[in-house]
Amino acid sequence: MDSDSVDVKFLWERLSQQLGHLTLENRRRVAVGLIVAYAAHDGQKRKSGEPFITHPVEVARILGGLYLDADTIIAGLLHDTVEDTDRLSFEEIEQRFGVHVRRIVEAETRLTKIVPTRPGERVKDLDFQHFFMCMSQDVRILLVKLADRLHNMRTMASMKTEKQKEKAAETLQVYAPLAGLLGLDTVKEEMEVLSLRYFDPDRYFELKDHLKKLEAVQETILKDAKDILERKLQNDPLLAKQVRQISITARQKSIYSLYKIYKRSQWKLEGNQRLNQVAQLHVLLDTDDPSAESAAVCYYVLGVIHLLWSPIPGKLKDCIATPKPSSWKGLSTNVWPSSGARLVTPIEILIQTSHMSTGNVAQWQPSQWNHIEADDDVSDDESNSIFDSSDETEFNLTLRNGFNRLPTLSYRSSGFGQAQIWLENLQKWQHEIGTKMSPRDYVDCIRDDFLSPSVYVFTPAGEFVQLPEVKALFCFFLTTFLGRNGAGFRLSYSCAYR
Ligand code: MN
Repeated sequence: MDSDSVDVKFLWERLSQQLGHLTLENRRRVAVGLIVAYAAHDGQKRKSGEPFITHPVEVARILGGLYLDADTIIAGLLHDTVEDTDRLSFEEIEQRFGVHVRRIVEAETRLTKIVPTRPGERVKDLDFQHFFMCMSQDVRILLVKLADRLHNMRTMASMKTEKQKEKAAETLQVYAPLAGLLGLDTVKEEMEVLSLRYFDPDRYFELKDHLKKLEAVQETILKDAKDILERKLQNDPLLAKQVRQISITARQKSIYSLYKIYKRSQWKLEGNQRLNQVAQLHVLLDTDDPSAESAAVCYYVLGVIHLLWSPIPGKLKDCIATPKPSSWKGLSTNVWPSSGARLVTPIEILIQTSHMSTGNVAQWQPSQWNHIEADDDVSDDESNSIFDSSDETEFNLTLRNGFNRLPTLSYRSSGFGQAQIWLENLQKWQHEIGTKMSPRDYVDCIRDDFLSPSVYVFTPAGEFVQLPEVKALFCFFLTTFLGRNGAGFRLSYSCAYR
């Protein structure tokens, strides 16, 4: 973008496209936010040479696209003002836009810009801890951070290679999983793909090429299958009663999910069938009913599909009844579409209702945004329980960092309900343990235990526990091979910190 053409009018035209859900009054507040941000960043440039203001405006546009409220969008506009300019203070932000906007901007601002570090503390760790502590108080803090990171990833081309790699790794380890936990599937996927491009460019372009070649072969059969399925579902009398709209998208599997398969196959591209099965149909059922019962319609659609095309045995995944730690909700199956005699490729079909699907932030209630005000009493009653519960079970695994007290997901809720429970747990955990850790340990714990790939495990009591994959394997090894009452997981709920 040419700097002369980037004036307030131009920026407002871009931004207001994403503000259709706000009242006139709130759009006016956002406009004031834009003018303040424009003045604060006046004269600053990004590494790419673009005027700096384009960054906060794009961040605000991402937030608007998620139907977020005016406070969040204003905070998106102002998120770098205090950190990067000396033209604005937190007090001024509060006076003009209220305490919520101030709190969000404060949380986005690097702590190390405000207070000096102590000897031995790494600046990065300290900032990370500060952000996580703030984040658990108001989910909007996390949403602004994710939008900020997403736009930075989109515009990373002009950074040094080393910096690109570092940011990409951090995004894969921390921010993409966080987006997934909030159910923002599209944000998560875009982050993963952008990160991969910088994290492992050779394999990224190799897979991109591979996908392009497959598209040439599979495109027609996928399109045919889409048309057939569309007709079948549109004409179904039972669905017509329960579903407002059915939309089917034909696409290829995400390059990042392909990368994971590629990695597991030790980077062998040839002869690996799984790397060729990339055709996907995504069936989205728009229902009025947000209740859990509306999920039943997904099973009905699955039945229709399995009667239409042969399902591939063992490839059905039910992520409605059985949770998946990644938080994706829905059904997925693989079928052989029979269009004439050609059998070109199996197709993966994903089935979801609109309530399970991505980023349905619009349904979140603004009154719930910062339901989790810091509560000093939280840990008083429970603070000792984590250390003295060793008598509970026969098999006591003592693992570092108290993994079983880490925030866990409620496996039946989704969207905001899920994010809410998760943040509440995170806050409790921070009260009990997080505050006692050094910034370094804190970062390790969040990254390795809390955001790393995890699995659900059944306990003997029939409960679900979410465990980091590595630790679950470790437990499995101990219980199965060292023999404690046969196979299976015997997990204790006690743990020790350090
Ligand atoms: Mn920023």
